[in-house]
Amino acid sequence: MSYFSGKKYNIVTFGCQMNVHESEKIAGILQDLGLTHIEKPEMADVVVFNTCCIREGAEDRAFSNISALKKCKAQNKDMIIAVCGCMPQQKQGKYDFKKKLPFVDIVIGTHNVNMLGVYLKQVVDTKKRVFEVVETPISLEEGKTTIRDDQINAYVNIIYGCNKFCTYCIVPHVRGRERSRPYKDIEAEVKDLIGKGYRYITLLGQNVNSYGKDLNEGIDFATLLTKLSQIEGEFKLKFMTSHPIDFNKDVIKVMKNQPKVAKCLHLPVQSGNDEVLFKMNRHYNIKHYNKLIKATKRAVKNVALSTDIIVGFPGETEKAFEDTLKLIKKVRYDQIFAFMYSKRTGTPAVLLPNQIDEDVKNKRINKLLREQKFISKQMLNACVGKTYNCLVVVKNGVTMGLTDGGREIYLPNDSNNQVNHFVDIKIEDIRNHKLSGVIIDGRRN
Ligand code: SF4
Repeated sequence: MSYFSGKKYNIVTFGCQMNVHESEKIAGILQDLGLTHIEKPEMADVVVFNTCCIREGAEDRAFSNISALKKCKAQNKDMIIAVCGCMPQQKQGKYDFKKKLPFVDIVIGTHNVNMLGVYLKQVVDTKKRVFEVVETPISLEEGKTTIRDDQINAYVNIIYGCNKFCTYCIVPHVRGRERSRPYKDIEAEVKDLIGKGYRYITLLGQNVNSYGKDLNEGIDFATLLTKLSQIEGEFKLKFMTSHPIDFNKDVIKVMKNQPKVAKCLHLPVQSGNDEVLFKMNRHYNIKHYNKLIKATKRAVKNVALSTDIIVGFPGETEKAFEDTLKLIKKVRYDQIFAFMYSKRTGTPAVLLPNQIDEDVKNKRINKLLREQKFISKQMLNACVGKTYNCLVVVKNGVTMGLTDGGREIYLPNDSNNQVNHFVDIKIEDIRNHKLSGVIIDGRRN
């Protein structure tokens, strides 16, 4: 019996879907060792902090969460605390875990997280701390246990790393260059998940549209989507994140023609101003971005659009910010994810002149969010009368349809026989910001 049999673990995750999925794999490593999950980190024998360094706020939160366990560790000397993910991987990170957090047992980066099981055993055997941040990604083994949190949606990595080097972004520095997974491995995982009953498969990558460029398989992202759509079963494919320079008409065509590709698109624009985009090293201008949006809206009926926006990038003038406001009014996203520019040591944007004051950033982001709130309300109202292909689910005892973009539509009680199936739902009414509708066409996917 292993030392860890019967012991409890907890994983605290910060950051994006990539990290959420990575934590599912970490849970697999821990359960393979014999550990079982426990809700509260302070009650666990092994606590793993899967960190994010995309913004200073995320780092500070992670650091204070880890620090809060110091007392527990003092009471339970056998508790093992591990920190992994993007924070330790940074060369010039703000926090020195080795010196500042002497009660942390394991510090590893993004490239060797799959070795966590080995390091845990090492700590038990040697009673010594492990600090192992490597520069080269250790290739992931296929078929490892993954403990997925969600019963409906499953994440599947298709590409790791990023080659884009946006001037504000730390990701290429901590996740390395693009590495696509071979098609056969992705297909095998997707087939397995569909067999297990997952209805949504979300293909993950920092830039999914770059898929396959580093392989010699002749499969680009549009082809990957097409091939995966041919798999038997009732499911839909989602994907994130897309980059406007690589997202193209071939992908739009697949979104239009393949019923198994979800009708939603997250296309980060970051700014509505060309000068700012140039300084961000985004490689596109607003004309190009608008063209993509127009083509997507024209081809994909009722498509749900979302984006990321950075407010207060160095040199962002009032006029440049107004351009971003103009853009969101024009595109009319269902949802935006807006962030204030956060300096990341080691990225070129830190050295740019005309850094924006925090109070200006604050004012701008509030103005942007107010405008989007107004647009989102209008977009919700505009749903009435439209028909969406939705997954029927039961949430807190209530039967509802979920659109591909994640909107909830309340259904009559007699819709229960369609639970877990995709159906066409016509939206009939909206009350207190809640949509209600009826199924007009049962299972068809
Ligand atoms: S595309 Fe730009 S923002 Fe996205 S991960 Fe790569 S460098 Fe960062």
